[in-house]
Amino acid sequence: MQGQTLLSKIQGGLYGQALGDAWAMPALMRPLETWQHFGGWITQFLDAPEIHPVHRGLRAGQVTDDTEQAVALAEAMIADGGVTVEGVARAICNWYDRIGGDASMYVGPSTRRAVQAIKRGVDLYQTGRFGDTNGASMRVSVVGLIHPGDVEGAVKDAYLSCIPTHNTDVAVSGAAAIAGAVAAAMPLDAELEGIITAGQKAAEMGLAYGTPWMGASIAKRIGIAVEIARSHRSERERLQEMYDVIGAGLAITEAVPCAFGVLAMAEGDPKQTAIYAAGLSGDADTVGAMACAIAGAWRGIVAFDPSIIQQLKKSNPALDFDKVAQGLFDLVRRR
Ligand SMILES: [Mg+2]
Repeated sequence: MQGQTLLSKIQGGLYGQALGDAWAMPALMRPLETWQHFGGWITQFLDAPEIHPVHRGLRAGQVTDDTEQAVALAEAMIADGGVTVEGVARAICNWYDRIGGDASMYVGPSTRRAVQAIKRGVDLYQTGRFGDTNGASMRVSVVGLIHPGDVEGAVKDAYLSCIPTHNTDVAVSGAAAIAGAVAAAMPLDAELEGIITAGQKAAEMGLAYGTPWMGASIAKRIGIAVEIARSHRSERERLQEMYDVIGAGLAITEAVPCAFGVLAMAEGDPKQTAIYAAGLSGDADTVGAMACAIAGAWRGIVAFDPSIIQQLKKSNPALDFDKVAQGLFDLVRRR
């Protein structure tokens, strides 16, 4: 792959992650609630509403834990020359301390439990043994970015990235689906169908890793979400159906299939994917981050309106997206 193309796709994946996260951050818990509060679709970056139970106080364009952790994970990968279990643990603990995790509303349940165990000195292969929520998948897109076209390699590294916090088969399956889809989105001739199929295949492969745990099939539920996304109903009816049947909550078996649903509904356009993720509501920022990371890795940075990039940089001065993208690009080139 030409260097410029590869860099554009890595930038697209990273800015896509941030776009979906920040765009859907203000969305409320249910589709109708979001629709009524905002008087329709969310069509620009907005502040979180005062009534938001998790994000109140966040300003327009600000990302949440999903992108903060993705950047922390990417920085560890760049420093370590790849994904290592120790690097992931270090990245997540540093992030947790930086945001004042003990007092923060937006640390997820598995991550909070795992970080506390890591700090007590528990073995890293044990700290994530009950982690089964969507934190595994919300940060993992950056792992896909260093495996252009290599779904299998992305799945193996997705597993490593899960170990300290989400070391269950169902969580690894969800993380593998996102990392695998991102990896499949990067070749120049990638097509949306192939990206979705790769996500399903990666979800199946991911089930071979981690502690045996319970949970629905993410691969099959991706299929159902995409079917709903392409059914002949209005956009709002399809999102409501997705919300009712798949669910858009913290469960990784809900959020990951929904990410593929909104991606398919938007035909992989990054901004439209973000609009649908916000309309879907629930854990909208996580669904948006995962879906838009895939969309961005597919379409590349050229698919983004420059004003979106500017706003994301301005609203998140602590995160140097361009430097991280360059670091990931250099890492791919070195390997
Ligand atoms: Mg979040």
